[in-house]
Amino acid sequence: MPIEMPKGLPFSVDTWTPCSKRKRHHFITHAHKDHAQGIAAHASYPIYSTLLTKTLILQYYPQARLDESTFVGIEVGQSLVVEDPDGNFIVTAFDANHCPGAVMFLFEGNFGNILHTGDCRLTPECLLSLPDKYVGKKGKEPRCPLDCIFLDCTFGQFPLKMPSRYTAIQQIINCIWKHPDARTVYLTCDLLGQEEILSEVSQTFGEKIYVDKAKNLDCFKSLELVVPEIISQDPSSRFQLFDGFPKLYERAEAKIAEARANFEHEPLIIRPSSQWYACVEGISDTEKRMKERCDQAVRDLCGVWHVCYSIHSSREELDWALQLLAPKWVVSTTPSCRAMELEYVKKHCFNNQRAFNDSVRKTSGHQCSSIFSCHICTPEKAVEFISPSKRPMVTLFGRARLGLHDSAFRHEQKEVPTGSDYTEIVSIKTEDVCFQKEDVTEVEFEELLETNIKANFAETKFTSTDINPGPPKLADISPTSSSNIYNENFRRFYRSMNVPVPQRLPSLAKLMDAKKYATKRL
Ligand SMILES: [Zn+2]
Repeated sequence: MPIEMPKGLPFSVDTWTPCSKRKRHHFITHAHKDHAQGIAAHASYPIYSTLLTKTLILQYYPQARLDESTFVGIEVGQSLVVEDPDGNFIVTAFDANHCPGAVMFLFEGNFGNILHTGDCRLTPECLLSLPDKYVGKKGKEPRCPLDCIFLDCTFGQFPLKMPSRYTAIQQIINCIWKHPDARTVYLTCDLLGQEEILSEVSQTFGEKIYVDKAKNLDCFKSLELVVPEIISQDPSSRFQLFDGFPKLYERAEAKIAEARANFEHEPLIIRPSSQWYACVEGISDTEKRMKERCDQAVRDLCGVWHVCYSIHSSREELDWALQLLAPKWVVSTTPSCRAMELEYVKKHCFNNQRAFNDSVRKTSGHQCSSIFSCHICTPEKAVEFISPSKRPMVTLFGRARLGLHDSAFRHEQKEVPTGSDYTEIVSIKTEDVCFQKEDVTEVEFEELLETNIKANFAETKFTSTDINPGPPKLADISPTSSSNIYNENFRRFYRSMNVPVPQRLPSLAKLMDAKKYATKRL
């Protein structure tokens, strides 16, 4: 389940609880149901989402009190200025490489610069689409490191090197090529985010995919939206959508047994998923060895072929992203402490952990063995040992700080985006504001964060004219800069880092200009 935003922030992301409802602005990164749970009961205007996400949500929850007017559209590469009584802020959407319509949100305002990845599969293209100032170059720090990143750490503890989505699709296609006699090819691609597989298979083999509308209505509807041209209603099609759940293995064995009984070639049953690879508890050594092969499709003991297709970042990709972004604070959006194995976290957090834990034990008797499990898994525990009047010097993740007196948590450089990083700026007026200052249901932990956020960023506040109700010209915005306060550890980290950094892609604005130019020429 996605996590609540700290109380000091005026927006929620992917949470639909009574608490979140009190936020003034709501964002949904994508339409997976675990990110929309509760939206039917607690959603209120404005919900920011992409058009595709909005359409999917309205399809999934037709009875909900949601309609087109509840949503505000934002697309990849677009920036909006959101009006807020505590200071306007800018939000920009970036491709999350997760599922159709999925985006990451970058928030820039009085509260600092915050990237919320939602669920994501981070690639160089994803990171390099972020504004230049947030991305480090080889041997160089980012000009303005992100203050906080809410990061999808689903595979933070999973050491396997996972193939890219593209490579995984090629493995699926190779597997099909190698089994020309298989009369039927079943693809367990019934989840949002697997459309690309069906599309590539359909294009490669020149055949459509049979989707049973009655059995897979949600999937059918999303395919109709995203890739309608590949859907077939002919049950004799060679390529067929196969349910991933429930009882996949029993159904697969039954299909294979049926073919054998009829003296036919076995059907090919392919499951593109990372889940099978990630489940290694209580399995035999033989199975463990099978799961170590991610370079080709692997047939399990039930006859199902597996390909490691992941729409979440691998541990390696997470480490790479954190090295490049060097955020001051990292919060895992996944429920458990899956970020703890990340190299960035290990290098930059554990030195401070002991001191922190000692201080924790002294003040509260709290026996947590790890700072991370406190703050990431069970944030409410934090209220036991941190009070606004006595704040220890704390590292959460990376160079994340809670201590008010820690200068490393202050803004290095407060900048607003330049026109080249954004394709469009739109001013959004929020009428439906009913923020309650006295929120007794939210934990003290959030109050602490609010206090910290405000205190740490007070010196670099935008004035009301910095981001005007608009539509503003970003070039006219002149932020206040603070001094450069990189510490020696941070410099040492970069000196020790040897990460190949790909060349930055042209900005979206430039690409669009190039496209316009090319169209005109044609
Ligand atoms: Zn998701």
